[in-house]
Amino acid sequence: AALAAGSLAACSSERTDSGAAEAGDGGEGGGLVGIAMPTRSLERWNNDGENLESLLKDMGYKTSLQYADNKVDQQITQIQNMINQDPKVLVVASIDGTALGPVLDSAKAKDITVIAYDRLINDTESVDYYATFDNYQVGQLQGHFIEEQLGLKDGKGPFNLEPFAGSPDDNNAKFFFSGAWDVLLPYVEGGQLVVPSGKAPKSNDEWSSIGIQGWESGKAQAEMDNRLNSFYADKKVDVVLSPNDSLALGIEQALDAAGYKAGNEFPLVTGQDADLANVKNMLAGMQSMTVWKDTRTLGDQVAKMVDQIVKGEEVEVNDTETYDNGKKVVPSYLLPPQVVTPDTVESSLVKSGFYDAGELGL
Ligand code: BGC
Repeated sequence: AALAAGSLAACSSERTDSGAAEAGDGGEGGGLVGIAMPTRSLERWNNDGENLESLLKDMGYKTSLQYADNKVDQQITQIQNMINQDPKVLVVASIDGTALGPVLDSAKAKDITVIAYDRLINDTESVDYYATFDNYQVGQLQGHFIEEQLGLKDGKGPFNLEPFAGSPDDNNAKFFFSGAWDVLLPYVEGGQLVVPSGKAPKSNDEWSSIGIQGWESGKAQAEMDNRLNSFYADKKVDVVLSPNDSLALGIEQALDAAGYKAGNEFPLVTGQDADLANVKNMLAGMQSMTVWKDTRTLGDQVAKMVDQIVKGEEVEVNDTETYDNGKKVVPSYLLPPQVVTPDTVESSLVKSGFYDAGELGL
């Protein structure tokens, strides 16, 4: 799979699409928009890129869409190449949120407006806007789901919990973890949740000690295998806090290999993104929920912001307090994430056209 993702990324980095160029040149909008995405190896970024590209083309823009195979240097080169083509706006979903300052300074020098897409870009003045789903709320939804399912408010427990966190270089990961841990830590401290592996951060600031680099499924699986082998000889896992679906997938494979049966006996496992493989696992009784971020709505919002920037109109934001990147508070547009459970797959994911019933085997 790594090979396939790599070769796709390689060929996509050659590509500059100018589908609606003729229509766009003299009409409203027009001009080039550079879109830098992190990797093709995760389903959501493929959807994000294609969706944003097609919305912008329909509005008369040219686009250059690039995927960087999760390699920071590759992303920097791609962004520099885009800057050389004088785009009006750059839309960047960063790999390492602290590594883009210098390249974005050269965008700023050419008056190119920069929108951080989904992930904040840190330690630089050279980012103008941020559009994302409410990352803290994603974690809160996961934490509250666990609280409710286990009846923690009614004093039930103790339950065995294994917490995971996302990639240490991704600014979102600490928000996801903080949102969940603000709900769960009091139950850990009070003894209703027990963490047999001991991998329970004592505060939100320690989240990266349990972070999985690069959000890799394989690394999450190896970590879960390890915890199961070392700490669960005479115990059962009741619940796993997983920040997203790529980690959840690896964790579910480890649980499956350790003999946990799909269905009611399977531990509660959380997720995020509504990736196809995870939605299938939810229907098969191996994942309890996912936090769905309808990437189509993020694309709509960003396309609207691009158009407002190009036309010199006021750019719509709804949060000017939360996202301090170390140099400035970046004006942001936050969209609401939502919980999907096996029971609501059909009424949310299928009904809205995010997936066809057929591809889910429904
Ligand atoms: C995104 C998540 C995604 C993760 C791994 C995060 O920044 O917000 O939706 O699961 O990266 O790609």
